[in-house]
Amino acid sequence: MDKPKIKSRSATLKDVNYSFVRMSGNRKIGYMPAGYSSFLTCWTGCVFGKHGACYAKGGHCMMHMWKVTIGVRGGTFEEYCDQISILPDNTVYRPMVGGDLPGIGGQIDKGQMLALIAANKNRRGEGSKIPIGYTHAPVLTSQTPFSRANAAIIKRANKEGFTVNLSADTVAQADKLVDRKIGPVVCVLPKGTMRKTLTPKGRSIVVCPAILAGKLGTITCTDCLMCARVDRPYLIGFPAHGMREKIADKIAKGELT
Ligand code: SF4
Repeated sequence: MDKPKIKSRSATLKDVNYSFVRMSGNRKIGYMPAGYSSFLTCWTGCVFGKHGACYAKGGHCMMHMWKVTIGVRGGTFEEYCDQISILPDNTVYRPMVGGDLPGIGGQIDKGQMLALIAANKNRRGEGSKIPIGYTHAPVLTSQTPFSRANAAIIKRANKEGFTVNLSADTVAQADKLVDRKIGPVVCVLPKGTMRKTLTPKGRSIVVCPAILAGKLGTITCTDCLMCARVDRPYLIGFPAHGMREKIADKIAKGELT
């Protein structure tokens, strides 16, 4: 299959496709609904993308993501929101298994993000569904001119029930993300980190139990749900693992930027 040819710099929102799977059998997340956004949503400055260590660019996920990105699978953003809005109240699901928040090239589209926040609200009762979301979109002012706007909309999403974990490449960057006070933070850790550890500023990092368990599928996100907690008083760390373990390890150690 050909790689997607369209580049985010020449894309419009209409070029960005989404896919929603009613029941994912992903071995790490477990059985839950899952969403995928086109690679066009990804920030071009993402260190994992730059060095070929993106977890969505491996195995079945990559095949699905390419098809979504070139538009032969999935549908429009509006259809994606419809799929989320009809989920039963309080359903746990995993948006952005691959890809990022709605927008192009890491610049979050405020209108679409508000639509997603609205789709995530419960239909019958108060509150919202329970998404386990992550983003690599830039939110530090040193990263891009649109970081400030991204930070504002992510803060709102987290306040209104659409959980977005900010993904840090290193523990030092994790401290900077926590200092933004816009959402929970996760970070990559050097390969083999098996214990609770600390950021340079002394914040606790709990290692993801799915990775600690060793064999994928032993503990899943469905069992754990730590990443769904917006107000958790600790960070979650993911030791470098999988096919791109060596590159992820170098990223976590700050050797690749
Ligand atoms: S910490 Fe829990 S919810 Fe987060 S990725 Fe790991 S298993 Fe899933």
